[in-house]
Amino acid sequence: MARPLIADIDLNALRHNYCLARDLAPHSQSVAVLKADAYGHGAVACARALEDLAPAFAVACLEEAETLRAAGIEAPIVLLEGIFEAPELERVDALGLWVAVHSEWQIEALLSFTPRRPIPVWLKVDSGMHRLGFPPAQAADIWARLQAAPDHVADLHLMSHFATADALEPGYFRRQLDLLNALAKSLDAPTCLANSPATLAWPEAHGAWNRPGVMLYGSDPLEGANDASRSLVPVMTLRSEIIAVREIDAGEPVGYGGRFKAPRPTRIGVVACGYGDGYDRHAVDGTPLLVDGQRVGLAGKVSMDMLIVDITDLPSAGIGSEVVLWGQAANGEVLSVDEVARYCDTISYTLLTGVLPRAPRRYH
Ligand code: PLP
Repeated sequence: MARPLIADIDLNALRHNYCLARDLAPHSQSVAVLKADAYGHGAVACARALEDLAPAFAVACLEEAETLRAAGIEAPIVLLEGIFEAPELERVDALGLWVAVHSEWQIEALLSFTPRRPIPVWLKVDSGMHRLGFPPAQAADIWARLQAAPDHVADLHLMSHFATADALEPGYFRRQLDLLNALAKSLDAPTCLANSPATLAWPEAHGAWNRPGVMLYGSDPLEGANDASRSLVPVMTLRSEIIAVREIDAGEPVGYGGRFKAPRPTRIGVVACGYGDGYDRHAVDGTPLLVDGQRVGLAGKVSMDMLIVDITDLPSAGIGSEVVLWGQAANGEVLSVDEVARYCDTISYTLLTGVLPRAPRRYH
């Protein structure tokens, strides 16, 4: 029998979540963010599944867009970080891509390059994330320069990224939004601002375009704070099986370093999934997993190829029992990747993008 680890990808769930993002923002168009191989779900398969729904896709860089074009994806694709060097504009033009611009050298490259047809541009302004983008005070000047170059630039939009749209305390988010609204008004600019939490919770931030990412994959950046976020459906189920069972005495240590000590006579199951598959090594004892659809806890440090669960309270479990690391079990029980992430002191984004090729993707 082959190693039982698999990442099941439910493309109907992806479509459901996309439709939710779209329907929450009826006056916006929603670009589906497929960067980082669609947050680990497989960008080509996800693009194909969304092709008839999403008017455009977003990726981080040219190589990711080329992968989609090579697979026959024809929808517009925006490069969220823009070009990394001027010669990339040749490929941007040839492939009909859209670009974000965030730095002076990109503007100069754009204005000194003559494309076959003008390139759609999203001007990125730093409204408070302090990562990429022009200072707001420079935006009017750059906007005017781009507008004055219709042979080079088409369909200009104002773009920015929120640092705290998922925070319960909305003060900083408000500050960013107020700044952007004022800027958009003064430039009479269509905008693209909203990520997943802003799509879910902040209709005031919905623009001509929105950019939902993680919510498409069923992860909830609001941790159940509103109805919409609660109706997201997990797309990835990381699934394996118990491959060995042991009975150990009370007080016996389990795994590397003996971090877990059996508090009683304990039955443990060994699961074929480890950090060499992308499961987070920072998972603490008690991190939930579903064995035959029942919640059990991690026992001991995650190894490269295996991890261990305490199945003392689940006498029916044994070799061959289904183990869901996150996602939906055969009995319908759901363990969200967001919950697992909390036990690993991380976020769903790192768990999903971290699933390695040794966990084959299986599409439904
Ligand atoms: N837009 C930009 C520029 C991003 O960097 C990201 C993700 O990091 C997104 C949109 C999507 O964000 P989220 O996955 O939180 O919806």
